[in-house]
Amino acid sequence: MRANSLQALGVGLIGTGFMGRAHALAFHNARTTFDLPFNLKLVALADADAARAQQCADSWGFERSHADWQQLINDPAVHLVAITTPNLLHFPMAMAAIEAGKAVYCEKPLAVSLEQAREMETAARDAGVVTRVGYNYQHNPMIGLAKQMIENGELGRIVSFQGEFCEDFMGDALSPWSWRCEEAHAGGALADLGSHLLAMARFLLGDIEAVCADAQTVHPQRPATRGSDEQRAISIDDQTYALLRFANGARGTFGSSWLKHGYKNHLSFEIGGTEGTLAFDQERLNELRLYRPGPPGRDGFQRILAGPQQPGYAAFCPAPGHQLGYNELKTLEVVELIQALGGHGTNGTDFAEAMEVERLATAIRIAAKEMRWVSVSDV
Ligand code: NAD
Repeated sequence: MRANSLQALGVGLIGTGFMGRAHALAFHNARTTFDLPFNLKLVALADADAARAQQCADSWGFERSHADWQQLINDPAVHLVAITTPNLLHFPMAMAAIEAGKAVYCEKPLAVSLEQAREMETAARDAGVVTRVGYNYQHNPMIGLAKQMIENGELGRIVSFQGEFCEDFMGDALSPWSWRCEEAHAGGALADLGSHLLAMARFLLGDIEAVCADAQTVHPQRPATRGSDEQRAISIDDQTYALLRFANGARGTFGSSWLKHGYKNHLSFEIGGTEGTLAFDQERLNELRLYRPGPPGRDGFQRILAGPQQPGYAAFCPAPGHQLGYNELKTLEVVELIQALGGHGTNGTDFAEAMEVERLATAIRIAAKEMRWVSVSDV
């Protein structure tokens, strides 16, 4: 069926920063690369900076722009609201969109507190609207393959998970303050990077029952802006580490740091089973490394390369080894959301699951502060 003979689905996007651009690209790519159950229309783009909103709307192909996000939500032609603003704004924007009966695609972390996350989840459930949260790394076809291998028992019984998500964009003590440094924004490495890893651990191995953790602010002040003499006090975590106890019996470690020099997008894990080990690193997102015991002197890790056999890959490229990138993962996330709106969603992170990620992050914060094991169900 031709796209324009399908029912229109109007998209409203809030924010034109790093993720605003990634969402715009993903919506474009979704409609050019996949057969979707709706005719996606890029209706409105909002940003607090009116001139930038207008300029981006023009170049990204949105019909109109707003400086006031509430106008975008009130627009009857907008059916799906995508939120790519700083974390503190997720709650008011998502709640307003839910109240207006719109579907919501919100960037991670869902909220700045577990209380907010719970309110958002309840409101979405009561309103019956479709929700998704931007835990895009799970949409990598290689992560789908990893999940399949784990569930098929190809690694035997899972006994361990070692995960780390580090980058180095705050590694320099002179890297300036930003909203990501504010507690009010649930700032810090745990919320910014660690939330992705917690979502991934849950996606692959299920519930985590208990955590024990330690967190540290390495640079207690930073320049207000790059090169400025004005210093701002910082109290959020630059790095957080934790021990994890999974409900399936596996034991694990978790690390998140935005100061670890040399790493740019190192969302990585090694999963150990009684019959093998599986390893992944987002900096090499088209590969899995698999070890299964072989003859002595001849065994070793096998490198599995992404190809059209993995669902999602073939839509972008018919040949193996040509490699997908970050923006393709975002596109696959959007496609799953649009399928869900058409009644065929499968594995996206909705507000209920994102709330569980918040609960886990909150348990880690409590454990670090009180220097003890915390049972996640007590939080
Ligand atoms: P950013 O600072 O680059 O962009 C934020 C945008 O929000 C800017 O365009 C800003 O003008 C706009 N904005 C701020 N206040 C506004 C208001 N009141 N009304 C309308 N627009 C407003 O930030 P970013 O890096 O794009 O991060 C945004 C969100 O995306 C955060 O929640 C972050 O955690 C998340 N994020 C997710 C990923 C991922 O891989 N999923 C990666 C980076 C960021």
